[in-house]
Amino acid sequence: MLRFLGRGSAFCAENNCAFYYDNDRLVLLDCPMSGFHRLRLLVGEAPADKNISGITVLVTHTHSDHIGGIGMLVHYCCYVWHIPVKIIAPCREIAEDLRFMLLRLDGCRETAFSVVTADEAGSGFIPVPTEHSPELAGRCFGWCFEADGRRTVFTGDTNTLEPFMQYLTEGAELYTEASASDSPVHLYIERLRKIIPQLKARGVSVYLMHLDDEKKLASAATELGAELAPVV
Ligand SMILES: [Zn+2]
Ligand SMILES: [Zn+2]
Repeated sequence: MLRFLGRGSAFCAENNCAFYYDNDRLVLLDCPMSGFHRLRLLVGEAPADKNISGITVLVTHTHSDHIGGIGMLVHYCCYVWHIPVKIIAPCREIAEDLRFMLLRLDGCRETAFSVVTADEAGSGFIPVPTEHSPELAGRCFGWCFEADGRRTVFTGDTNTLEPFMQYLTEGAELYTEASASDSPVHLYIERLRKIIPQLKARGVSVYLMHLDDEKKLASAATELGAELAPVV
């Protein structure tokens, strides 16, 4: 299952950032600056001691609470950890934007990282287009992939679960954003009240993430049979 280096929404001190291990690669779901610092402390000075020989970052969209730490991660992996970073973008346009950010704006060393699309990566990562911010229309995604032998569905930021439903088969794990305040760009918890128990009945485990109000969302999670995303 996924573990989290933070599960807060955009204006929280610790932004949403998840990870899991795929053999000797550590796979991150987005990388805010707070997530980078938590990862640095978690891994320590020598990634090899933790059997980590490379880092993969799956990007959902380009809001700063999701990509704000990628440049620093690339620098750190280049100069301190000496391991490569592979960034998987959900579409070609975001791949180009990330290359511009890392090479032109952040001055990352070209050999320190690669950016590929999910198609180019060809490794079972399925980008799922969804709706979130109108300013980023067409450029907001979740991901479906296998982690620790289970189908894992990660919504990223979204205002709907609809695009993800087809992937939520029995035994799947769903990591969905949930918001205590009603907003057109996020998934208001009241809109999840019906669907979470239905998913549970279907054998789907549901975890809430990208939380704007932990207290309110914790009690809603208990009522609905969901859990809050596990933070390390
Ligand atoms: Zn966000
Ligand atoms: Zn966002």
